[in-house]
Amino acid sequence: MTIVLREGPLRSEPSETLDPQNWDDVRAQGHRMLDDMLDYIANIRERPVWSPIPDHVRARFRAELPRQSSDLGEVYREFADHVVPYATGNVHPGFMGWVHGGGTAVGMLAEMMAAGLNANLGGRDHMPVEVERQVVEWTRSMFGFPDEASGIFVTGTSMANLMAVLVARTAALGQPVRQHGIGNEGALLTAYTSKAAHGCITKAMDIAGFGSNALRSIAVDQFHRIDVAALRAQISADREAGLKPFLVVASAGTVDIGAIDDLAALSALCREQKLWFHVDGAYGALGILAPALAPRLAGIENADSIALDFHKWGQVPYDAGFLLVRDGRQHRDAFSAPAAYLRRETRGLAAGSQWPCDLGPDLSRGFRALKTWFTLKTYGTEKLGAVIARTCALAGYLEARILAEPQLELLAPVQLNIVCFRYRAADANEVNGNIVVDIQESGIAAPSTTVLDGQLAIRAAIVNHRTDTCDIDALISAVLEFGAQRSNSGAGVVVNVEPSPPLAM
Ligand SMILES: *Cc1c(COP(=O)(O)O)cnc(C)c1O
Repeated sequence: MTIVLREGPLRSEPSETLDPQNWDDVRAQGHRMLDDMLDYIANIRERPVWSPIPDHVRARFRAELPRQSSDLGEVYREFADHVVPYATGNVHPGFMGWVHGGGTAVGMLAEMMAAGLNANLGGRDHMPVEVERQVVEWTRSMFGFPDEASGIFVTGTSMANLMAVLVARTAALGQPVRQHGIGNEGALLTAYTSKAAHGCITKAMDIAGFGSNALRSIAVDQFHRIDVAALRAQISADREAGLKPFLVVASAGTVDIGAIDDLAALSALCREQKLWFHVDGAYGALGILAPALAPRLAGIENADSIALDFHKWGQVPYDAGFLLVRDGRQHRDAFSAPAAYLRRETRGLAAGSQWPCDLGPDLSRGFRALKTWFTLKTYGTEKLGAVIARTCALAGYLEARILAEPQLELLAPVQLNIVCFRYRAADANEVNGNIVVDIQESGIAAPSTTVLDGQLAIRAAIVNHRTDTCDIDALISAVLEFGAQRSNSGAGVVVNVEPSPPLAM
């Protein structure tokens, strides 16, 4: 058979690929970019933590769709001049807002190589999938899960928690739920978490079709740990009312103050009551790598599933969320779906089943595993554990400084790496809200806020491996300085202090 090449517009021209005409130019430009980004990380202390985006900069990014080509160097200038100076700031050691990891140069380089390979980790037989399986295996062993456990990278813990709810749902109702929906029986299922749990668990119950009312929000003790007796009482009351409790979501590191639920007590309760035991360990679960913290997570090894983020305490660049499930079969039962175009073979590129797409909603998936593999191998878990322990020591240092300053008041017990406090003032909520915004705008540090018992707290979450005592000292000086200004003048920005569910990214 002869293949006739058509003349005319469909004819392929080498100049129409997206590869450069001159690789040397791209190579030189690439080296410049790489050097700039390494300098950015190395010299991050010289920059403000965060800078408000000027109107003219924001306006540049309301441009028309580019129809014509531009020079790569010019496009890069736009990025360097208008994006880089106005990033979130979490690379900076003065960033203490929400719960953000600091990233590393190693993670950045791995991300570049992952993009070069352009691997799709939905499935098929290639080494990138084996790299993900390696990290799954390492994570399994970190938490003492059995050999038949399974795991998968996802965007973040919000997604991992949602997937855990779906696995627990399929385990409770059986696989027909995937054809029929939750139905009348599913409408009776109830789940349990504490009042201090992250808002994404409520969202997961909503998205999974149970509705957020099917999630019971249980009281916490003074350390923000779930009240296990109250949980037990609510489960009994629900059973008596004809409902079907199926899931308990524990927190290992609450987002507002870093509390760890009594995981051993919860795992025993779940075993006795035959409930799925899921742990939201978004940032706290990796505390397992720090010998001083690991005992506080006792019981996590009995979980049915754990959600965690390598992009928080693990310092892997965004995003690198992860779901670990004790029983790999139950995990697969919740998500795998046959399709002719995803047919598996025993040899060739379509071999290597099961595929990651059998374990979650995504088919096309990036190579998040590579930056995590590089991070774990390059630093080793002992060093990563030491970094985690150090953030807690710095939180202790911040606590001591607060207790020594008569103008400052601690608002919650410091349990891990999060410190909530405030400046004493007559109109404390307004003054402290203003102090936080003033400090963010000054570029000195970036704390965030939370509301504890109606009191607006300045919240410092020490997550970044670069943060040091000088950054804590700078935060304290800034709070005292802006606090004095704000409580004298009383004027300034109005900050919304309505109590709202804590949220961290
Ligand atoms: C950050 C966090 C989440 C959400 O995780 P994402 O990775 O932002 O989706 C959930 N729970 C807790 C306790 C968190 O700290």
